[in-house]
Formats: sequence, structure tokens, C-alpha cells
Amino acid sequence: MDSIRTWARVNSPWVIHFNSGSCNGCDIEILATLTPRYDLERFGVKLQGSPRHADVLICTGPVTRNARDRLVRIYNQMPDPKFVVVVGSCGLSGGVFHGSYNVMGGVDEVIPVDAYVPGCPPRPEAIIHGVVALLDSLKKKP
Ligand code: SF4
Repeated sequence: MDSIRTWARVNSPWVIHFNSGSCNGCDIEILATLTPRYDLERFGVKLQGSPRHADVLICTGPVTRNARDRLVRIYNQMPDPKFVVVVGSCGLSGGVFHGSYNVMGGVDEVIPVDAYVPGCPPRPEAIIHGVVALLDSLKKKP
């Protein structure tokens, strides 16, 4: 059963996108990644709105004090097993907002992160590479 579950998860991951304080640059690149030009759906990835149906959380931006509780709540609402991909330098470390009075730091200061996609903002090809690398790593898990 586990191998069937892993097969289904890897071939049809449902993702949810959350902006925890981004300037919107990374979010625009994520939207471009989902359009027919870059076509992330060819890997079976489906964007949907409810954390309760999501396998993967794609998060952008540093974590602001206002967004922290929402990020934790969304993460907790996702069913196990769940995975987190951080897109953009701000999500990795706080980026250009590091040290700001209202920024807590990168996403991994608040929730566990499985894959990082650096860049300001990263190009759609890099985002696809990060998601595919995560899916490849899931194939190797029992
Ligand atoms: S990494 Fe760059 S584009 Fe992305 S949220 Fe930070 S400043 Fe904006």
C-alpha cells in the first residue's frame, strides 16, 4: 500500500501557495510557472485553495509577525505527510528584509522546510527544478 500511496503522491501532488510577506515578485514567477508556457501541470501538479487537500505548501517571502500564525495554521491543517518548498531568497533567510522590525526570518524559523529555491526572484525553470527535485526525493522514500 505504501508504494501505491507514494506513486500517487509523486505523480499528482496538490499544492497550495502562501505568501508570508513577499514583495510579490516570487509570487508572479510561481503564477508564470503554472501557466501553459512553463506548464508545471505536466508533472501532475495541481494548484488548489484548501490546505486540507494539499500535499505541498509553496511559500514565498520572509515570515512577517502578522503572517506567522496564519502560516502555522495552514501548515497544521495540511494532512500528513506534507512537504514545504520555499521559493525566493527572502523565504530562505529573510533576504532583503532580514533584520526588519516586523520580520521573523526565513520560513524554516517557523515550520520545517523540505526544499529551497534560491533567487530574487527565481525563474520558473528554477521553481520547476525545485519541485521536481522534491518529488524525486519522495520516490526514494519507503
Ligand atoms: S526574493 Fe526577491 S522577489 Fe522574492 S520576495 Fe524577496 S525581494 Fe521579492
